[in-house]
Order: sequence, then C-alpha cells, then structure tokens
Amino acid sequence: IQAHGRPRYDENGNANRMVGMTADITDKKLAEQRKDDFLSVASHELKTPLTSVKASIQLLNRIKDRPYSETHVKLIEQSDKSIEKMCMLVDDLLNMSRMGQDQLNLECNTFNIYEMLNSSCSHIRFLNEYEIILSGDKTLEVFADQHRIDQVVVNFVNNAIKYGKDSKRINIETEAVGEFIKVSVKDFGQGIPESAIPFVFDRYYRADHLGKSYSGLGLGLFICSEIIKKHSGKIGVESKIGEGSTFWFMLPK
Ligand code: ADP
Repeated sequence: IQAHGRPRYDENGNANRMVGMTADITDKKLAEQRKDDFLSVASHELKTPLTSVKASIQLLNRIKDRPYSETHVKLIEQSDKSIEKMCMLVDDLLNMSRMGQDQLNLECNTFNIYEMLNSSCSHIRFLNEYEIILSGDKTLEVFADQHRIDQVVVNFVNNAIKYGKDSKRINIETEAVGEFIKVSVKDFGQGIPESAIPFVFDRYYRADHLGKSYSGLGLGLFICSEIIKKHSGKIGVESKIGEGSTFWFMLPK
C-alpha cells in the first residue's frame, strides 16, 4: 500500500492544501520497473545511431554549391526536422531513465531569465507562426541550469501549442514573488478538468478529456517537475476547461 500526495500551491506559490491517495501498487510498481528498465536500455541504444544520422544530415545541409535538385533539398530539410523531433523524444526518455537512477546533474550559472525566454521564444515563433507575448521584469537574474530551465519552458510552450485548439496566442510572464522568480506560460486552449489537475505532473499521466487525438508519452511535465524540484523551486498550474491553462514555475532568487 502506498500513500501518495502532492502540495497544491496558490498563485503566490504558498502551499495551501495536499492532494493525495492511497493504493495497492504491487503490480503497478512491477510494471513501472519493467517499463523503466526498457526505457533505459532502448533510449541508450537509440541515441548513438541517431546522433550519427543527425551529424550526417547536418553535413549534407552545410555543403556549399549543393549538387542537389530542389526536391533533394526539401527531403534533406524534412529529414533534419524529423531527426530533431526524434532526438527530443529520445532525450526525454534518457532524462527519464537518469531521473529514475537519480542522475540528473545540474550545471548552474547566473543568467538573465527574460533574455533566456526571449531567445527560446524567437526559435519557437520562427518554427510555429505563433503569437508569443513576453512581458514582465526584464532585469531578473537566476542561478540555475540554463539548459534545463530552457527545457521546461520549451515543454510548457510545446504543450500550449499542442493543446491550444485554434488559439494561436501564448503569454509568457516573468515576475519576482517574495524570495522567488516566477515564470508563467498562459495558453487559451482546451484547459484541464479540475479532477485531472493534481495528476498532470505525474509520470505517464495523460488526461482523458482530450481523448487519444494527441500523441505523447505523458513524460514531459513529470520531467519538468523533477528539474524544478532539483532547483529547490516550485511548479504548478491553474486551468479552466474551455478557457485555457497557466503553467508556472518558481526558482529561488
Ligand atoms: P504528453 O503531452 O506527452 O501527454 P505531458 O506530461 O506534457 O505529456 O502532459 C501531461 C498531460 O497534461 C497531457 O496529456 C494533457 O492531458 C495535459 N496537458 C498538459 N499541458 C496542457 C495544456 N497546455 N492544456 C491542456 N492540457 C494539458
């Protein structure tokens, strides 16, 4: 029997209640252990050939005076994008197995969070024709692992795009809240039912209300929450069905 609970935070980051449950998890634990072992082996095995294909395609892309037709160029560019997606997926799996083995190491330095968000957003804007509005305090600096924090932001934004219905707008805000620096990513999409909210950061969790129309492994938000926990920060979401969701995280100043 396992008791499982998570603190829930209000919008100022104060824990105001615990949500949890107890369950007999013997079979579930065994199944998860097997899944973890499989993920670990599969992701390690996939990483090496994938890295080599990626390098080859990038080389092809870099050749000047290309002896290719337009069709060749298009095919190379499409392959490049697909490989990039596969690399991201394999990285998720690798991150997952590292977390299972408690091997998530941070490389921290001091950086301006607004500038970091600006550069992550310009990349996403370029790829997706979205209106991403960045606002808030431009001067805030954090001591954190920039690559990992970027990963969290990109995950939030990718979900906002994926579950955003027809809405093409995303608002990102930075602010200082007490001893923390808060980053919020707000979308105007499907929203999440109240009953699902306590579980969205759980491993493999996917809310039912969206049906099976979206691909995914249910790992992204779990990885985000592990990264933020490792920084001694907080993570949460406010959401209303039909109106949209605001995913946020806080890092210590
Ligand atoms: P995945 O997207 O692969 O399912 P995630 O861990 O990123 O995994 O998200 C878990 C679940 O949370 C999703 O399956 C979805 O049901 C819900 N979710 C996440 N982000 C949003 C969002 N911006 N709007 C609505 N639902 C969301």
